[in-house]
Amino acid sequence: MKAKKKETGAFPETLHDAIKCFADEDRALDFMKSIRWPDGVVKCPRCGSENVSFLSTRRIWKCKAAHEKQQFSVKVGTVLEDSPIRLDIWLSAFWLIANAKNGISSYELHRSIGVTQKTAWFMLHRIRLAMQNGSVEQFSGRVEADETFIGGKARNMHADKRGRVGTGAVGKVAVMGLLERNSPDKHSRVKLRVVRNVRRPQLQKEIKKQVIAGAEVFTDSLRSYSGLEKEYVHNVIDHAECYAKGHVHTNGLENFWSLLKRGIKGTYVSIEPFHLFRYLDEQAFRFNERKDNDAGRFIKAARGIIGKGLRYVKLTGKTGDGGLPQTAKAWWTETWLLNHLGFETD
Ligand SMILES: [Zn+2]
Repeated sequence: MKAKKKETGAFPETLHDAIKCFADEDRALDFMKSIRWPDGVVKCPRCGSENVSFLSTRRIWKCKAAHEKQQFSVKVGTVLEDSPIRLDIWLSAFWLIANAKNGISSYELHRSIGVTQKTAWFMLHRIRLAMQNGSVEQFSGRVEADETFIGGKARNMHADKRGRVGTGAVGKVAVMGLLERNSPDKHSRVKLRVVRNVRRPQLQKEIKKQVIAGAEVFTDSLRSYSGLEKEYVHNVIDHAECYAKGHVHTNGLENFWSLLKRGIKGTYVSIEPFHLFRYLDEQAFRFNERKDNDAGRFIKAARGIIGKGLRYVKLTGKTGDGGLPQTAKAWWTETWLLNHLGFETD
């Protein structure tokens, strides 16, 4: 995606430009409007009416239809809904997070944009939500599938909960990765998912959901992958023997895993397992958009804000922080896992 030129000047190219540009509240609002209503027509988020008037002094709109809450801001119906944080702060944070190679901790965000660490933590989670891969497009061509365990400190979690996290070491979270190799017209992409365990039903269900039938699938010799040949051209590399036979390997994902783990080590003291999936979304986003420039990644991340706020409120029946669970206990409730990660009770 090319950064768009605006009448008011060029679109920012660096973090410094972005901070300067969006400090102008009208420019920040213009940008958010273009993300929120790409066709340029402001619609009431509650009834969809285009019959609205702009209250310029407060930078909000008022719907002329008769219903509750006629006034709305550009944030309503997005992950930014209900947040008192100024738009320019939000946009600077989006820029930072979309472009930080190895991720950014709430502490760094707090220092960089001058909000409290708690606020930074909430902002990080919402921005990661916006960066969640909304693509439903299945992978095709040559696809590597592999799984790994990522260690999180299991403190604050009860022993029986820890034991359920995966079949690997206690306190480690199993992650399933799929990598679509590059082809002449597109670069490689990944999809990541926290899985309850690495047994056949979990892993194969994920592959069938994310990879088009008939594609070439590359895995190691883990038994959980056997049987894939019924729906795919299944190529197995036995790591006890060697790591590659021609194009038969899972090296793309192996490299991605080492990058990912290095990132986790370098940026975070520890990632609680219940935050891991957001971090994975963030890293998959950066990897998949790596050929874009900073402005392009920023715009893509910002586009992800639409609709997600409402969806969260609907699912959890509460507003506040957009319904994000705030404690380990809340996170591990079955309903929440099922809704958000697709976990199923064994
Ligand atoms: Zn309305």
